[in-house]
Amino acid sequence: MPATRQMPDVIVVGAGFAGMYAIYRLRAAGLSVHVVEAGSDVGGTWYWNRYPGARCDVPSLEYSFGFSPELEQEWDWPEVFSAQPDILRYANHIADRFDLRRDITFNTRIRAVDYRDATATWRLTAEDGRTWEAPFCIMATGCLSVPMKPELPGADTFRGRVLHTGAWPAEPVDLAGKRVGIIGTGSSGVQAIPELAREAAHLTVFQRTPVYTMPANRKAMRDAVQQEFKDNYRQIRSLQQANAGGVSNFRPTRSVNTHTPTTTTATTGFRAGGGNLLDLTPEERRARIARRGLGELLTFRDVYTNPEANDVANALYREGVHHLVQDPETAERLCPKDYGIGCKRQVLDRDFYATFNRDNVTLVNLRETPIESITPSGLRTSAGDHELDVLIYATGFDAMTGALLRANITGRDGTLLADKWRYGPVTYLGLQMRGFPNLFTVTGPGSPSVLCNMLVAIEQHVNWIADCITWMQATHHATIEPLDASEDDWIAHVNAVAEGTMYTAPSCNSWYLGANIPGKPRIFMPYVGGYPRYKARCDAETASNYAGFEVL
Ligand code: NAP
Repeated sequence: MPATRQMPDVIVVGAGFAGMYAIYRLRAAGLSVHVVEAGSDVGGTWYWNRYPGARCDVPSLEYSFGFSPELEQEWDWPEVFSAQPDILRYANHIADRFDLRRDITFNTRIRAVDYRDATATWRLTAEDGRTWEAPFCIMATGCLSVPMKPELPGADTFRGRVLHTGAWPAEPVDLAGKRVGIIGTGSSGVQAIPELAREAAHLTVFQRTPVYTMPANRKAMRDAVQQEFKDNYRQIRSLQQANAGGVSNFRPTRSVNTHTPTTTTATTGFRAGGGNLLDLTPEERRARIARRGLGELLTFRDVYTNPEANDVANALYREGVHHLVQDPETAERLCPKDYGIGCKRQVLDRDFYATFNRDNVTLVNLRETPIESITPSGLRTSAGDHELDVLIYATGFDAMTGALLRANITGRDGTLLADKWRYGPVTYLGLQMRGFPNLFTVTGPGSPSVLCNMLVAIEQHVNWIADCITWMQATHHATIEPLDASEDDWIAHVNAVAEGTMYTAPSCNSWYLGANIPGKPRIFMPYVGGYPRYKARCDAETASNYAGFEVL
């Protein structure tokens, strides 16, 4: 929609779940909206991350929208934890059902987002020069949407195929008979590695930091369980609202096993209800793990709060790896040693360790033999050359701030977001930034975001933003932005609640802290205080007619 056409009330960047729900919700509020999306269709994360093995680690009956009872009733999930194609199908179904695409411009990447002081409007400029303008702008650009590719010497010289898990092609990739290398063993690498090993002639895994990964629930959905969820969805949605990670922990009576391991937070995938690890004798600990598997380690509360318990859990985990991997040297290389369980986003897998028992898989420990360069025919470490036909980067994302900074956002009086965030992201509630009136972020830094069930977080944010814009129009206000004091207090609070958690342990280097990006300020970006506490704070702002904001 060129700028010459009538200006909508709201422009949105991104047509993932956040942008999609924004269209639905803003339309319902009587507002006009236009979305600009870089991809050729809806789905965001689930549009881009099509690598083999990609799937969600929040149960699908929970990782689904609650705004439409009809949608809840008509959609069926084939598995308890759905694979990427099923989640993308769900996104497409929503786009069709609510006729969302008529308000989306696809295949268009935004290169600048500018506030125009004279008109108090926001202007989006696309890479091809087209523009869109509106009084309100929502950045629905996702937390993990800018793939990170390390700069390796010689990278451009490689003659084979280069892929990134976060920007995987839509058409099938044929790896049969190919020598494949993959760099990275985070969630994406761990999910992809077993699938790649099944397809490729040979797979070489280039690992820098070993991972703590727990076996995922791999059960097919049972009709009875799905029906029980459908029968109880109103209760389930309100349970989600009361849970720190935005998951209900609803236990279906018809089959308790289908839904286990039960999520307590969206980021562990396991219920932290197992008491304290240090209360058990060493024999009892081993017996529990032998009976219930390695994932049991995540159920002990003190593993997350007491460094001694964390050390014990880490040691038990390493014992477990040695049981799962036949070659003792490979097993030892796969053992995490210099950081603890709970510091990073918990990884879940299907057959990760068993994959290293295959004849066609080699593990390269980059700590022992670092990458020296990419060569025309493969990858060279300090120990020698690895010949490859395909090189896959599973090297993660410039998380949480990456997409916002790359959009080149300029606020009031020419204030650059990049300048404001020079020492790390500063927001109020992860929703707005001072100096950027009428600009909203969905699941921005300083909100529960990636520590919460994303769909719950997205609905809450978009509802808050829609209510705010509706109020602004009804009360004839032109602009809203946080007070300086609100931002300062909120950032202090976000830091205070993160302090002393495993997330911010000195040994921890996670993307939550920006530690995966060279030069990125080390700040714990998501809000760890829990979704209900956060939502109460947002609701208080609405109820007080936005007392923490400057409204003109
Ligand atoms: P990630 O967790 O950041 O992992 C990136 C991996 O690449 C790490 O093993 C990292 O090693 C390695 N790496 C980065 N730069 C490297 C370099 N220069 N040389 C060698 N190795 C390098 O990224 P991700 O696996 O894409 O996952 C990101 C997040 O996306 C997850 O934490 C999760 O929130 C989300 N995700 C979720 C799912 C799911 O729902 N199941 C699946 C995939 C992703 P170091 O640790 O040494 O830096």
